[in-house]
Amino acid sequence: MDDMIKRLNKLSTFIRLKVDSVISRHCLLCLKTGQPSPICKSCLEDFPLTENGCETCGQQLHHPSDNIQICGRCLSKPPAYIKSVSAFDYKFPVSSIIRRLKYQECGYWAKPLAQAIYPEFKQAFGHLHNAVLMPVPMHESQYFIRRDNHAHLIAKHLAKYAGLPLQNEVVMKSRHTPRQAELSARMRRRNVKNSFSLTDRPPVSPIIIIDDVVTTGSTIDAMARQLTKGGATEIYGFSVARRSLE
Ligand SMILES: [Zn+2]
Ligand SMILES: [Zn+2]
Repeated sequence: MDDMIKRLNKLSTFIRLKVDSVISRHCLLCLKTGQPSPICKSCLEDFPLTENGCETCGQQLHHPSDNIQICGRCLSKPPAYIKSVSAFDYKFPVSSIIRRLKYQECGYWAKPLAQAIYPEFKQAFGHLHNAVLMPVPMHESQYFIRRDNHAHLIAKHLAKYAGLPLQNEVVMKSRHTPRQAELSARMRRRNVKNSFSLTDRPPVSPIIIIDDVVTTGSTIDAMARQLTKGGATEIYGFSVARRSLE
């Protein structure tokens, strides 16, 4: 009986919070009420956009010029994808939202984040009317630590905004890899090499791989290489944020 009362109390709190958020429609960041979207316009204007990126991998060009817009790495070793685009720079408040989504199981951030990145997605890939969205998969062992795959959550909502199909059963993460964050560019590439495998034939339509944060692009490249082996010919990458390698 006690258990039942506890559960009912929990449920009523949940419903009250839901109703509150629908009625007041407050911005999730500044808590200003009467907002039509979960992140208000003025908070969204503070989101740091990416600048001076390589036209292929999106990495920041330290010496951009009018005629060279591709980084040395992409010129010498072109990636398996055509182009990777990030909506924002990995700086506050984007960095803090991603950390919450990733490590504090705040799944409710996925939808507002997808809504915030959709304009950049549309600008970069709006012309690909038959594209398929494919989130970077997690290794099964990671599900014990993080309940949800955050890339999948973001891709799921982004697919709805874009009106494109989501395909998350073609590629699996077959090998667990240590976190990329502490690794150098070379180690990152080595770390993720051959860590993905195919469980099905990739679609013939263009594929847009979705991830939360891109640093060197090695994860998207490793996944794109596997998809290319399976016959995919047109692969792109899109992420919420670009983090520069220190
Ligand atoms: Zn706001
Ligand atoms: Zn590049």
